Amino acid sequence: MNNLETRPPESSAAATPEDLTRHDPTEPPQHEVPLNLYEKRKGVFPQKIDGKFRRFKWLVMLITLGIYYITPWLRWDRGPYAPDQAVLIDLAHRRFYMFGIEIWPHEFYFVAGLLIMAGIGLFVVTSAVGRAWCGYSCPQTVWTDLFQHVDRLIDGDRNAQIRLAKAPLSPSKFFRRTFKYAIYLFIGFWTGGAWIMYFADAPTLVRDFWSGEAAPTAYITVAVLTLTTVGLGGFMREQVCIYMCPWPRIQSAMLDEKSLLVTYKDWRGEKRGSVKKAAKNPETYGDCIDCHQCVAVCPTGIDIREGPQVGCITCALCIDACDRVMAEVGRPRGLIDYATLEDCEREAAGEEPRPVWKTLLHPRTIAYFSIWAAIGLGLLFALGNRDHTDISVAQDRNPPYVMLSDGSVRNAYTVKLRNMESRPRDMRIALEGLPQGVMWTDAMGREDAASTLIQRMPADATQAFRVYVVQPADVAKDEFTFTVTSLDKQAETDSNEARFNAPE
Ligand code: SF4
Ligand code: SF4
Repeated sequence: MNNLETRPPESSAAATPEDLTRHDPTEPPQHEVPLNLYEKRKGVFPQKIDGKFRRFKWLVMLITLGIYYITPWLRWDRGPYAPDQAVLIDLAHRRFYMFGIEIWPHEFYFVAGLLIMAGIGLFVVTSAVGRAWCGYSCPQTVWTDLFQHVDRLIDGDRNAQIRLAKAPLSPSKFFRRTFKYAIYLFIGFWTGGAWIMYFADAPTLVRDFWSGEAAPTAYITVAVLTLTTVGLGGFMREQVCIYMCPWPRIQSAMLDEKSLLVTYKDWRGEKRGSVKKAAKNPETYGDCIDCHQCVAVCPTGIDIREGPQVGCITCALCIDACDRVMAEVGRPRGLIDYATLEDCEREAAGEEPRPVWKTLLHPRTIAYFSIWAAIGLGLLFALGNRDHTDISVAQDRNPPYVMLSDGSVRNAYTVKLRNMESRPRDMRIALEGLPQGVMWTDAMGREDAASTLIQRMPADATQAFRVYVVQPADVAKDEFTFTVTSLDKQAETDSNEARFNAPE
C-alpha cells in the first residue's frame, strides 16, 4: 500500500440514479426523455491485496477448483460389473454414481433431496454470515477471481490495467490482449472439458475426444461451456452478480438486523479527511482518511462507504485493504468489518459488540439448520435401509383369463425384477396366497411349472419377463402376492400384490 493520498475512485460499477430521467406522469412531456435501459459497463480493475480474507479466498478457490477438476479422475472399485469412476452421471444407463452410492432412476428422490438440502444450505449460510456464498464459493465469483488474476499477471496491477485500457491500440497492447484472451480460452476450455468428464469414463473420453471419436455432444458441450465461461467470468464479471443473478434479490429478503454484513462504521469513519487534515483538526475528522483503497480492491467496483448494496458480494477484501491502511496510520482495525446492524447500533452507542460466534447462533439460523439436518438424516436413513431387490407386476387385462383344454384357468403377468447389486444374483419368485397355483415363463415349458421359480439376474440390471399362473377351474377370484427373495446371505425380499381372475 504505497499511496494513501486522497483521490476519487477510478471506476465504479454502481448505477447512478441520474441515468434515469423521470417526469411527473400526469404532466405531458416537455421534451424528449432519454431513458437508459442499459447502462454501459464501467471497467473494474481491482487492485491486488493481501490479508486474512484474501488468503481465505485463495484457500476456497483452491479447494473448489481442485474438487471440480480432480473429481472425475478419482476411481472407486465397484467390481467388474460397474464403472470404476467415483462420481459419474451415466445417462446412457440411467445411473448416478457417487463413491459408494448408486442412485437408480426410481430413486430420484435422493437427488431431489440433495438439491433441496443445497437450497436450504444457502439459507443457513445467508442467515448466519450474509452473502458468504457469493463472496467465496459461487462459481461466478471463483472464475471471475481467476480471470482477474490472469489480468494482473499479464497487464499488471490496477493502475497499469487502467493505463492499458485507456491507451490506443499498439503492437504491444495487441500482443498482450491476444495472449490474455488465449489464456481466457484455455481456462474456459478446461472448464468445459472437465464438465463432460462427469458424464463418461474420464480417461476413455479424453482419448476419444483428442482422436476425434467422441460423440458430437461432447464437442458441442465443451464449445458452449468454453464460450459461457469466458463470457460470464472473463467479460461480464460483476454484471452477472449485479444485474443477472436473482440470488442477491432473494438474499436481501432474508437478511435482517441480526445478519452479518460487511459494514463501513460511519460513526467512526466520518467526517473523512486526510491524515494531515485530521492531525490539524482531530475533533472534526473521523478515522477514514478517504484513500479509496477499499474501492480500489473491490472486485465489483463499489464503495462500501455508501452503505449496503446489491453489488456487495461480502468478499471482505475491502476489510483487508482498510485494516492495512489503519495499521499504517496507527488507528485500530475494523473501520470496515463484518458486523450485524444490531451490533453497529450497540457499537455506535459506545457499547461492546457481541462476540462473532453469538451472532451466528440466532433462532432463524438454528431453524434453517434443523430443517437442513433433518432432511440430511432422513436421506441417510433411507439410503441405509433401501433394498437392492425389487419386483413389480403388471397383469394382462385382455383377456383377463384363458380357459385351458384341461379345464384349468390361466392368468398372464409381466413381472419386472430389479437387481441393484453390482454382481449377478439368483432370485426366487414365489406365489403366496394361491395354494393350488403354479407358474412358468416363456423360457420354460408348462411341464416345469411350479409354485416357485429361480431366476438368474445379471449384475446391476432390470429384467422383464412373462409369467403364466394356472389354477383349477373351480377356484374363485382371489388376491395373492408375488414375492421375490435374493438367494444370497442378504436374503433381501420384496413383494407385489396381484389378482387372479377366473370365471364367475
Ligand atoms: S474506509 Fe478505509 S480504505 Fe476506505 S477510504 Fe476510508 S480509510 Fe481508506
Ligand atoms: S464492498 Fe467490500 S465486501 Fe463488498 S464486494 Fe466490494 S470488496 Fe467485497
